[in-house]
Amino acid sequence: MDRQSRIYVAGHRGLVGSAIVRSLRQQGYDNLLLQTHGQLDLTDAGRVDRFFAEHGPDYVFLAAAKVGGILANNTYPADFIRENLAIQSNVIESSRKAGVKRLLFLGSSCIYPKLCPQPIKEEYLLTGPLEPTNRPYALAKIAGIEMCWAYNRQYGTNYVAAMPTNLYGPGDNYDLKNSHVLPALIRKVVEAKAAGSNELIVWGSGTPRRELLYSDDMAEACVFLMNLDDQKYGLLLKEDEPPLINVGTNQDVTIRELAETVCEVLEFDGKLIFDSSKPDGTPRKLMDSSRINALGWKAATDLRTGIRLTFETAKQQLLGHAT
Ligand code: GDP
Repeated sequence: MDRQSRIYVAGHRGLVGSAIVRSLRQQGYDNLLLQTHGQLDLTDAGRVDRFFAEHGPDYVFLAAAKVGGILANNTYPADFIRENLAIQSNVIESSRKAGVKRLLFLGSSCIYPKLCPQPIKEEYLLTGPLEPTNRPYALAKIAGIEMCWAYNRQYGTNYVAAMPTNLYGPGDNYDLKNSHVLPALIRKVVEAKAAGSNELIVWGSGTPRRELLYSDDMAEACVFLMNLDDQKYGLLLKEDEPPLINVGTNQDVTIRELAETVCEVLEFDGKLIFDSSKPDGTPRKLMDSSRINALGWKAATDLRTGIRLTFETAKQQLLGHAT
């Protein structure tokens, strides 16, 4: 990308999209095409096509998706599969018609089989059954990877799919019913402190392991991939394997350790109560990120620093809720 390139960030208000915009702006990319959900409904094929025809983006970061934690996925499975299939199908097809040079499709580590060997390599895609709690979402994302690959073969496009591990960071969703584990724990600690309670309710058994990546690190990885030279980028576009790349930290923690770390960073001397009526989900999902590491990228923010930075940006909003 050069500084004049027209860059469309789909989903620029989301966790990853907003971090990509921050990262691009910091690096001097100002020619950004941004549309709110109200301005452009990405599930509407006709409108997406018109937007692409009119603005002719050179590069597309496809970070728009319907996302949510374990409970939201369980409660709205139909919305998760329908909206995600529509969004990605429309953006990918319109990108092809508009001659987009590179497209980066964002997915998630839940595309991999529930019980696959750890750490998870890209080649484990479609080697076993998925975790049932987010199967509709995962299948939509797998279809997106397959579309990128199919388009590259049939049309000679250069579309790559990046799969982040569990993400957190500024602008996350703190709604306790829909959020992922880290923002939920941060909010619960803030509220427990405000209420003078010394208990923190943690869902499930606390034994599942999760790998967590700070959203700004993910954004750096996305811009890094988009800017790879042709030879390195070409390594991701082989005919005989999906154009898939993992993005993570190569480290994971148990949910118990995560809860303890949140308590430490937020200076809360509470007791953890495990609510076994809530699902554990996948026992472990640590990704093998050696492919992107070998290309020259690695995560920069450690968990404690990331939790502190995330809390700083959410403090006012959360304290408002808590009082
Ligand atoms: P997942 O990574 O797709 O399973 O999604 P989540 O981030 O929602 O959940 C990760 C793990 O954290 C699961 O084992 C949850 O049961 C556990 N967990 C513990 N407390 C919470 C909480 O308050 N909210 C959420 N969403 N998960 C929690």
